[in-house]
Amino acid sequence: MEYTEVLCRREKGGIFYYSSPLLDSYGVVNAFPERSGGFSAGIYSSLNFTTSTGDAEETVKKNVEKFLSVFSSSPGQAVRTHQIHGVDILEAGSAAAPAGAGLLFPIAPSDGLITADPDLTLLAGSADCSLILLYDPVRRLAAALHAGWRGAARDMAGRGVEAMLARGARPEDLLAFLPPAIGPCCFETDGDVPDAMRRGFGREADPFLVPLTPGRYKVDLPAINAHALFRRGLKAEHIEVTRLCSCCHEVFYSHRRDGRRRGLSCALIRIPS
Ligand SMILES: [Zn+2]
Repeated sequence: MEYTEVLCRREKGGIFYYSSPLLDSYGVVNAFPERSGGFSAGIYSSLNFTTSTGDAEETVKKNVEKFLSVFSSSPGQAVRTHQIHGVDILEAGSAAAPAGAGLLFPIAPSDGLITADPDLTLLAGSADCSLILLYDPVRRLAAALHAGWRGAARDMAGRGVEAMLARGARPEDLLAFLPPAIGPCCFETDGDVPDAMRRGFGREADPFLVPLTPGRYKVDLPAINAHALFRRGLKAEHIEVTRLCSCCHEVFYSHRRDGRRRGLSCALIRIPS
């Protein structure tokens, strides 16, 4: 196995969330919440982090504030990806992505954030897409990456590792957590997704692409992202994956299941102080 399957569900302040036992053991604040515990109603119910599908700004703001406060943070101490299915990674806290600025409406487009600042909480959003939280306990670096199939095919995971290495990290020290995302049970695609994966990874992608009927496939997105970390030198026991499918389980938002009639969740990570 190239990764370690974990299932760690916790509750704090009325929010149920999933975390990485390994990151927890280092005191890293890390969480991916279920939908309950927020203020949004109806199709957004209830801990929704986006206004892009029509939820009210004031309500989303309250959700963000509650989620952050449960984890001892606030909008002024957090920064969030502005996801465009790209592979750019910004240093959070820099001029490009100032701390707190644009938490609801992020300014600089990027699908990844990295920081060495223990006062800064990083967030990345998902409604099926695979997220990757990275931590280096030696250099004390954290990253939050959004890697849906487009990002995964362009090796967002590997780029996240590269960003850590560029700041002095070693692959064998890096710890990764992949929270719930769409599983191969529900991620059925045309040939475009496998084609993109093979352009990115060659034949290495094949074990994660299961042919169904001609031109149709089932794709194991979290496992591809885990593989992308493993091939960069992360240890399998340092790659923790929660293999709950966001589309199968109604406790998560799912674009595949609900289209744009849905909200969005955010994973968070913060370096221990
Ligand atoms: Zn499923």
